[in-house]
Amino acid sequence: MNPVIALVGRPNVGKSTLFNRLTRSRDALVADFPGLTRDRKYGNGILGGKTYTVIDTGGISGDEEGIDAAMAEQSLQAIDEADIVLFMVDGRSGLNVADEAIANHLRVNQKKTWLVVNKTDGLEEHSAMADFWQLGIGEPRSIAAAHGRNVTSLIEEVLEPF
Ligand code: GDP
Ligand code: MG
Repeated sequence: MNPVIALVGRPNVGKSTLFNRLTRSRDALVADFPGLTRDRKYGNGILGGKTYTVIDTGGISGDEEGIDAAMAEQSLQAIDEADIVLFMVDGRSGLNVADEAIANHLRVNQKKTWLVVNKTDGLEEHSAMADFWQLGIGEPRSIAAAHGRNVTSLIEEVLEPF
């Protein structure tokens, strides 16, 4: 079984951009999981000879109702299915109340969770990261999914125990 990486975070933080990057390698195949709802997207990737599965989700804000609740349910199911959770936040917009609500969900979860600060291209990294320590998820890791910055090294580290 491939290790399964779930991408969670509020809408617009760059989950799908990272998903596309992680599943774009020549050896990647879109995973065929019959019967899954369209709101969770699965893909495979390979790095350093290790294969993995990635789950993209629509997004979660932490206090949803109605349609948002269905989206959040997808994220909770993805977390359930995952070995590794990448909790993505937006380094440009900074810490957000929705991020704090999601962090509260994730802190009670037993899954290995990495805090990933995306969109740090063109930002002064050290100050862009500082606020995110408050989420209590550990060391914030800086990436730029759109440009690939730090993505390979992060995924190598994430996959290390597998
Ligand atoms: P999702 O809603 O979390 O899936 O976010 P998307 O992947 O759809 O990205 C939302 C927006 O952020 C898009 O306009 C992306 O082009 C942009 N974006 C994603 N990653 C980066 C990045 O590393 N740097 C910058 N500057 N923009 C990014
Ligand atoms: Mg998306």
